Amino acid sequence: MQKLKLDHPDIVVSLDIDLKKYSTMRLDSRGDLITVKSKEGLKFCLSELTKNNMTYKVLGWGANMLLPSKSKVPYIQLDFEFDRSVFNNPQDEYVLPASASLATLTSHANKFGLKGWEVFTGIPASLGGAIFMNAGTNLGEIGSVIKEVKLITKSGEEKSVIVDKNSFTYRHNHFVDEGDVIYEARLIHKGLDPAISNKIKEYLDMRTRTQPLKEWTCGCVFKNHYDPKRDVTCRAGLFIDIMGMKGLTIKNLTISPKHANFMENRGESTYEDVLEMIGVLKKELKLQFGVEFEIEAEY
Ligand SMILES: Cc1cc2nc3c(=O)[nH]c(=O)nc-3n(C[C@H](O)[C@H](O)[C@H](O)COP(=O)(O)OP(=O)(O)OC[C@H]3O[C@@H](n4cnc5c(N)ncnc54)[C@H](O)[C@@H]3O)c2cc1C
Repeated sequence: MQKLKLDHPDIVVSLDIDLKKYSTMRLDSRGDLITVKSKEGLKFCLSELTKNNMTYKVLGWGANMLLPSKSKVPYIQLDFEFDRSVFNNPQDEYVLPASASLATLTSHANKFGLKGWEVFTGIPASLGGAIFMNAGTNLGEIGSVIKEVKLITKSGEEKSVIVDKNSFTYRHNHFVDEGDVIYEARLIHKGLDPAISNKIKEYLDMRTRTQPLKEWTCGCVFKNHYDPKRDVTCRAGLFIDIMGMKGLTIKNLTISPKHANFMENRGESTYEDVLEMIGVLKKELKLQFGVEFEIEAEY
């Protein structure tokens, strides 16, 4: 990274910086960060990196990522300006940059009662990260309100995807190819309904009661596991709770007393501490219940 010159007015390169604040779990982490402020900057950035045989990782809000102590590849984070007056009134369609925060969208939905937008209530994310993950709650998934996604490929080309019924599945998109970066999306809503704001409030209250939302976490650590033989969904949090492992601590990392599928970083936890805790839990879950839970957060 040191040798590469990314000379562009819309690109800021920060080498070997403390990345702690760039993920919601606040793990101790260092690495290179490239902040990109426009589509043209992004095209230039990706094509230069690719020409120089360099790989990279896109970082949204880091709410689903466990950052390693020393990252081997640079992170790219988008920070596009946009006209926020679109939120002054409800629109039929919204064209928003991937760096817009989901919290801004939820508060707009709350204000005007946008049906369909309640599905991402309380999810910490950038719009791009939420689309990549098809983020959702038990109210639904963000994929249901996305119409079109615009991306830049690793060679710096523009790509547009019109969303259809095959574009998303559970916590998954099927159109972002390796090296693609989502920079913009077109969203709709499903009409206006004054009851939505109550729904959002109730859902947020419920989450605040049951999940450690103020602590440093990466959300749920394990995916719930569907067992087709018994036609049941095994909930990792419930199983960890049944094993009496809430509160288990490795150094500064604790299984949340509020919700057993969350790990709280209460100080200087590292990637290695998280992997150690995951190892302990996976072993016990397999031993006691015979279930192998997949990890939800990216590591
Ligand atoms: C307290 C808490 C509660 C949570 N609750 C939920 C929940 O209820 N439901 C849920 O679904 N998730 C939940 N999560 C997880 C997380 O919020 C979601 O996965 C969210 O979509 C991550 O968005 P992000 O912007 O932080 O993406 P990141 O974590 O930064 O990235 C996630 C993935 O998306 C890729 N990516 C990010 N931006 C782009 C882009 N512009 N172009 C291409 N790829 C990109 C990254 O490379 C990475 O692979 C929770 C997390 C926390 C901390």
